[in-house]
Parts: sequence; structure tokens; C-alpha cells
Amino acid sequence: MDSDVLIQTENLHVRFSRQKEPDIYAVRSLNLTLKEKETLALVGESGSGKTTTGQTLVRLLRPNLGTIRFNGEDVSRIRGKSLARYHSRAQLIFQDPFASLNPFHTVSYHLQRPLRRLRKLSSKEAREACSELLAQVGLTPHATFENKYPHELSGGQRQRVAIARSLAANPLFIVADEPISMLDVSLRAGILQLLESLQAKQGLTYLYITHDLASARYLSQRIAVLYGGSLAEIATAEDLVQHPAHPYTQLLLQASVQSPGKEAVPLPEKHPGAPDLSMNRPGCPFAPRCLYAWKKCEEEMPQLIPIAPHHKVACFLTSSPPEKPNNVQGP
Ligand code: SF4
Repeated sequence: MDSDVLIQTENLHVRFSRQKEPDIYAVRSLNLTLKEKETLALVGESGSGKTTTGQTLVRLLRPNLGTIRFNGEDVSRIRGKSLARYHSRAQLIFQDPFASLNPFHTVSYHLQRPLRRLRKLSSKEAREACSELLAQVGLTPHATFENKYPHELSGGQRQRVAIARSLAANPLFIVADEPISMLDVSLRAGILQLLESLQAKQGLTYLYITHDLASARYLSQRIAVLYGGSLAEIATAEDLVQHPAHPYTQLLLQASVQSPGKEAVPLPEKHPGAPDLSMNRPGCPFAPRCLYAWKKCEEEMPQLIPIAPHHKVACFLTSSPPEKPNNVQGP
């Protein structure tokens, strides 16, 4: 493991069991590496496994198989005090700030609780640190916000409180799960700029989860595309947007151009719809929807292979295309 790697997953699997229903295979064989102070965007539609991946990396969920290393330490199955220590280093910003803040508690309560619990500050120290946190996320003067309840704040202010709460633990790593998707378009740039400036000042590492390639390109150095719980493509942000190689990435890009900031619009594909995560069948997870699929795609799982420096793709079109394709037009 390189010395500047902060978090690394190896062969990560997360499966959910359901009574009288097939299991959900939410994350499959996932290998990801995040370097210190890097932002990696995890992009995909609803149901692609993004949120499960994020929640597993911060250990709100436990993987069924595989390992998560944080600063070289295996945190995949830690419990009790070790897990509490990890939660002060790895935090999550939820998609819906209204749902993630308790409506019966004030802003001050939401921020002081983790300050006392995770940083072991006294009441006086927690009050002072609370004011500093509000200033860091642009909620000034702090006295205006400290005693407000979530419903008394705007959507953008609520998300700033949620970001301040994640900072209260003094983390190194933050998973930001669709942090702007529930906000008005006019507020989104402000939250992205806040995340950017906090990273520059505090040396944070982000996993930025989104369905929106435009914001992924703005905020991140690299983009990983997830489909059916597996990595379809990973590259530098510019390379992925300029030279998408996987048919699914190409669909996402078309959707993002046609409907910026929104979930996918109808596009040419065999069977539109979210991936079926209950299927543990062989072959490429995207095959049921892929216009270019052929027999091999139904039988074998394509591996991630490099096609350029820092650019890997899991698709047979790039590794072993058919000699006489029927419907292959090329990516
Ligand atoms: Fe499509 Fe086959 Fe490539 Fe999967 S491996 S994306 S099914 S062409």
C-alpha cells in the first residue's frame, strides 16, 4: 500500500438477505483506492450500489467479504471502541439534510453532541467549537443559527449544518452522499465550493457520490462509474468525460448533457431500467441493457483492464471484441 493511500478496498462484497426473496448483491468485488486529500467521485444511477459502498466505507455497514484498509489498518470488521475511533476519522454527509437532522433538537445540540462524544470536549469547549464549526461552513454570525431548529433553516443552511456536524468529529475522510441533489439549483454551487474550500484548508479526502457527471467533473480528480455494484470504468475526471469507453458511461454522459443535474433520461438501450441487484448471474452486469452485448458478455464477467494511463474499463469491447460483431458499433 503506497504511503499516501488513505483508504483502500479489496474484493469488497456487500449482500443483503431478504425473507422469501432472493438476496440483494449490492456491491461485488469492489477494489477502490483513495489517496490523501483526493476527491474520487462515485457515479451511477439509483440502485447502482453507490450509497451502500459509501456506508460500508465509513463502516455503517459491515462487508460480507473483502477488506477495507484505512491508513493501513484493516477496519472491515472492527467493533466497539475501535469502531467508535474509526467513526471520528471517517464521516458521512447524508443526501437529505432534513431527514438526517432531528427536528426536535437545535443546531447547537446537533453539533455539540459529536464534539463531546467523539472528541471528548467539555461543555464549555464544545460550545466554543460549535461556534467555530458554524463559521467554517459559512453560517455567521453563529448566534443567529445555534438555537434554531432544522425547520427554521433553508435547505442550503440545513446542508451546511449537516456538513458542520460531519466536521465535528475531526475526520480525515468524508463520504458525501448526493449532498446537493435535494437542493435548489441556485444553492448547489455554494455547497460544492464549500466542500472544495474545506478540503483545501483541512486536507480532507472525499468520496463524492452522485448521479451527476457535471458536478463529479467539477469536484473530483477521478471518477469511478458503478453499475450493478461493480466498477464499470475508472479514470481521471477529464479523461472519463472526454473519452468514455464503457457503453454505460456513454449513456450517463448523454443523459447528463440532455438533462443536466437530473437522473437519467430515456436513452437507446435494450431494456431501460435500474440494474437488478438480486441477480447473481454470470456475465457482464450491464449485458441485459447493453446494445453491443454478444454471447461472451452473457457468460463471462469482464475484468477492469487499463486502456490508458489511469484509465481502466470493464468491457469486452475494449479487451477482446468479437471478430464479426452483429450489432457492435463500437464505443
Ligand atoms: Fe456491453 Fe459486453 Fe461491454 Fe458489458 S462487456 S458493456 S455487455 S459490450
